[in-house]
Amino acid sequence: MPYELCEKIKNMTPYEPINGDYSIRLDANESFIAPNKMLQQKIQDAVAQVSFNRYPDALAVELCKAFSLYYRVGVEYITAGNGSDELISVIIGSLLQKGDTLITLSPDFSMYRFYGEMAEMNMVTLKKGESLEVNVDDILKAAKDHSAKAIIFSTPCNPTSLVTDKNEVLRLINSTDMLVVVDEAYMDFSNQSILQEAVSFDNVIVLKTCSKAFSAAIRLGFAVANKRITNALRAAKSPYNVNSVTQAIGAAILNEADYNRDCIKQVLQNRAELYQDLTDLALKKADIIKVYKSETNFIFVELQDAKATHAALMNKGIVVRCFNRHLRITVGSKDENKALVAALDELLK
Ligand SMILES: *Cc1c(COP(=O)(O)O)cnc(C)c1O
Repeated sequence: MPYELCEKIKNMTPYEPINGDYSIRLDANESFIAPNKMLQQKIQDAVAQVSFNRYPDALAVELCKAFSLYYRVGVEYITAGNGSDELISVIIGSLLQKGDTLITLSPDFSMYRFYGEMAEMNMVTLKKGESLEVNVDDILKAAKDHSAKAIIFSTPCNPTSLVTDKNEVLRLINSTDMLVVVDEAYMDFSNQSILQEAVSFDNVIVLKTCSKAFSAAIRLGFAVANKRITNALRAAKSPYNVNSVTQAIGAAILNEADYNRDCIKQVLQNRAELYQDLTDLALKKADIIKVYKSETNFIFVELQDAKATHAALMNKGIVVRCFNRHLRITVGSKDENKALVAALDELLK
């Protein structure tokens, strides 16, 4: 008998990022700010210190210290990962068991479903209402109805750009025994974080990433949870998961608090301008149905024909993400944002 791939992997295809020559990339929610001279130097100095013949520090102590100082949370509650993607995979693969019910919301970050299916979870997907906001009562009801073991969701949400009120997230956590995984990938651009509170609960993991506000290149994410859960995560991850170069660079970046806050300020400034330009455009273009008020580094826009607009933008060398009726537009530099708005002005009616 020839070897056969198993059911769950048989029909899957590798992730294909958009390739080709596009002058403006606003599709992946990266930061538009490259490191300045000062940070470039710090990064070079940090890499020069790496012992390249040795394995990395298994617990990434210096890196976790830098995270601890920047976000004001104890080092004993922090686990580092190869992007928060790896941590999502470890959480679902190791803190849950095959057949457990895992709740996800829709629309939300698509990787939750992917890892859930890989780990053979019983996936329950709750559709968000028309406002696209997270509804805690709906979640609690579904959790009860399905005896769910865990929920994972993003706040602020990718792709809706909306944040869930911190008190609502805390109410959810307080009202259930299931594991609540709160993905705060975009919380650097908002102010409803539960990071400080997370460690005092039995059943919470907060996920953070460097990919959106700092550097997507180094693949670095963090999980914050109480000691018991942190121990479990550290036990479940592969021992040397975060490589030495990433550890060194990550620490160098997180140690530049003033610089980081200034970068985030620039993103927020450009977001405000892009939001204003898009809402102004919406006033004269019936093709634009709604511009969502963003709490992230991207803007979510509902269009009459998102797919056609997406394709037409590509033809002009501008890439954004398309979701059925919506476009997700990463906040770029001032020039990139102006070019995007000008292109939409030309394309839309
Ligand atoms: C980008 C993103 C992540 C993951 O990022 P990594 O690059 O793997 O750290 C996680 N969650 C959400 C909601 C994201 O948008």
